[in-house]
Amino acid sequence: MSTNEREELAGLAASLRAHLELQWDAGATGIPRGKRSTKPAAERETAPEKPTSQMPETVAPVSIAPDTVLVPTSAPPATVRSLPVLAETVASCVRCELGKTRIKTVFSRGNPKAALAFVGEAPGADEDASGVPFVGKAGQLLDKMIAAMGLNAERDVYVCNIIKCRPPGNRRPTSDEITTCIPYLHEQLANVSPKVIVAMGNTSAQALLDTKLGITRLRGQFKLYRGKTLLMPTYHPSYLLRESPIQKLSKQEAWEDLQKVMKELGLPPAAKGTHPPGYRPPTPEELAARSDRAAPKEDEEQPTPSLAFPPSANPGTDE
Ligand code: URA
Repeated sequence: MSTNEREELAGLAASLRAHLELQWDAGATGIPRGKRSTKPAAERETAPEKPTSQMPETVAPVSIAPDTVLVPTSAPPATVRSLPVLAETVASCVRCELGKTRIKTVFSRGNPKAALAFVGEAPGADEDASGVPFVGKAGQLLDKMIAAMGLNAERDVYVCNIIKCRPPGNRRPTSDEITTCIPYLHEQLANVSPKVIVAMGNTSAQALLDTKLGITRLRGQFKLYRGKTLLMPTYHPSYLLRESPIQKLSKQEAWEDLQKVMKELGLPPAAKGTHPPGYRPPTPEELAARSDRAAPKEDEEQPTPSLAFPPSANPGTDE
């Protein structure tokens, strides 16, 4: 078997696996019998070429055929307003109570022509004040995640949220708020038309996939947004910043998810032990200071959350 054939077979196996896992997640217990073509294989039409993307061509795409979608997909927005019109509409929106308490609406940052979109939950205090998504601590980690993929946060990705206004006290958005606000996001994504969406956290993945499954079940496998766009659910950067016994494992899992996205986009794989851009190895003095450091006492101020990403990129500072 040639290398090309082996790669094609691997792609088919990955697609079939993704398809079956999607079926399983959605509770399917069998596979409907498809219609068989009566034509001999040689006479059947070959599939049309995939449209070209801004990113390099994928070597072994994890393509999921549109008819494998299992989550209910609402119809695409009837009208798709341009992004400037949409941003202006959002800026004066008072469709829900959040319109009364917000300082600024938070629409997007990054490149609206990007092949990759990151979707978070809702603005926090920093975003409410600035009108820009992911500018606080979670945003700093998100930028590191993007850099670790070899991408530039302004040029190569589009970043937005399910909800455009800050829920008071950073509480989770209610399902009513999500239902009211998400049509803006659908229109936004219809404009951007990314090749891959990364849904960060429970709220984002559940709202975009219209499912109640949790992020732990959903993450790591490509799903389909609205029956046609590949969507990778992964952990939210705020969750990854939270100190816990599984913080490092969760970061590792998020990194695995992002590497699948890189592969799908045809981006060069990160070499083992590669550090994200901007990383410099610690000096011998810094290393010595770290190993001398005693564990913080309970009443001592805790260190700021680790922004290292990938988790192995900054040995000694990541837990
Ligand atoms: N968390 C989010 O989900 N979105 C932001 O913009 C900031 C933090």
